[in-house]
Amino acid sequence: MSQDNFFANMLLAWYDVYRRELPWRGETDAYRIWVSEIILQQTQVVQGWGYYRRFVEHFPNVVSLARAEEDEVLKLWEGLGYYSRARNLYAAAKQIVAAGEGFPRTYEAVRALKGVGDYTAGAICSLAFGLPVAAVDGNGYRVLTRCFGIADAVDTAIGQRTVKELAQSLVPNMRPGDFNQAMMDLGAKVCVPRPQCNDCPLVDMCVAHAEGRETAYPKKRGKTKVTERRMAYVVVRRGEDVLIRRREGRDVWRGLYEYVLVDGGTKEPDLMDNAVLQSLWQTERGVLKTLRQGIKHVLSHRRLTVDFYELVLSAETELSEQAKAEGYFFVPRERLDEYAFPALFNKVEL
Ligand code: SF4
Repeated sequence: MSQDNFFANMLLAWYDVYRRELPWRGETDAYRIWVSEIILQQTQVVQGWGYYRRFVEHFPNVVSLARAEEDEVLKLWEGLGYYSRARNLYAAAKQIVAAGEGFPRTYEAVRALKGVGDYTAGAICSLAFGLPVAAVDGNGYRVLTRCFGIADAVDTAIGQRTVKELAQSLVPNMRPGDFNQAMMDLGAKVCVPRPQCNDCPLVDMCVAHAEGRETAYPKKRGKTKVTERRMAYVVVRRGEDVLIRRREGRDVWRGLYEYVLVDGGTKEPDLMDNAVLQSLWQTERGVLKTLRQGIKHVLSHRRLTVDFYELVLSAETELSEQAKAEGYFFVPRERLDEYAFPALFNKVEL
């Protein structure tokens, strides 16, 4: 960066006076910064802080995380959503420990960790190691596209590259971590969707402000298509036992547990058409009861509508071969707490 980086100087001077007081501020341990950044990817600070504290108390360093069972990690993550974050943290911890060289200290090596993108790698390296690399989150995109009048859509590869290259050209050698945080703070406090330009340290150089078109940035090409999905869950009970399985494959909620799933795709799920339920019904005429219907749940690209039912079997019912083949097993009801279920399941009382 050149010494006359007006943008960085103005931003840092503003940050020294008006920065946000956040629980993570001042942290320099790379492992802790990594965990906090991963939690904050899709979680508000106010919700994420409690999870973060529990997580780093339970797994105080990368070795303890790598040595855990995946179920233990997912259980701590329960309710936070976007579970691929937890699975990636866990996989990356194993990657680090297997390499045997401690937490990686270069941008390229941090970026190569599973689940770590450009932003997270930039945040870890600038905050923990003082490396002059940019970390641009959604707030940073808003500030930069407005201030420099970037016309490329930020939901395209070219738009993202333009903003990242610009940010990298601006990040100073001194205080790179503060610079990255300052951009996020300005985007969170001043350059908000309806910006308060009178309070902004960049007002004299801001292109969007000069044009009087602040809210025209950042430009976007279009919204991601959201698909609908219908699902039903049947809580199959046998005396005090409940039938569950671990979700595998590439679908949502991988690694979490579920009751008997009847997946309808885009149509209403047909309970009579489910092989596991049929196999249990063959051995015992169960009683089916509706628990809740039409629970809505929105994931990043999917809108789920989920129904819950309960099927009560007699205490002697054998677990069918079909249910075993699909990974289902009985657990005592009082031990259900030991398994991580999607947060949506909390909406149904058993
Ligand atoms: S002048 Fe207004 S639009 Fe420009 S960066 Fe500042 S707050 Fe954002």
